[in-house]
Amino acid sequence: MIQSRRLAESNRTKRRGRPRRSDPRTVVESADTYHGWLRQYWPKIGHRLLAANSVEEINQAIQQEAPDVSTSLVPLSPLMLTILRERRFPQVRSDAQIRFLADSMGGQGLVTARRSREICSRERKEVVRHVILRQEFYVECSCGYKGPALDGACRYCGTTELSPDLVSKQDHSGV
Ligand SMILES: [Zn+2]
Repeated sequence: MIQSRRLAESNRTKRRGRPRRSDPRTVVESADTYHGWLRQYWPKIGHRLLAANSVEEINQAIQQEAPDVSTSLVPLSPLMLTILRERRFPQVRSDAQIRFLADSMGGQGLVTARRSREICSRERKEVVRHVILRQEFYVECSCGYKGPALDGACRYCGTTELSPDLVSKQDHSGV
């Protein structure tokens, strides 16, 4: 991942002024990449990461157990140590641990681990699920307007009053 490597490298050099804002899509894409790697290497690397007490131990675990992706992961070791030590870090299920770690790392330290998780959760909701924000029906009004209603009213004259015919129909259908 060229992009994450570039970000990781720029992250290592001290920047002055306000931190750069992360693009939410980049955060989620990076988190997904880390998730894939961590899941792949977790059987070997998982217990070593969980037991690590220093950045150095994390670096060694990465270099020995996940050499293919070590260039991208090693710069994030200090961040990983912080995440692994969080009180919220899942204690039992490895899939929850991998998800938590990956989502926290998505921001690559440009945002806090917690913010990174929030971004991931929000972005995924937006991408995966959409909801109906407005529900309208079609009306034909005596003013001449035909088309979608607006909050149940004619969009042209604004009436919500039903014709006697419709009222009696609705009474019969029990609406
Ligand atoms: Zn009307």
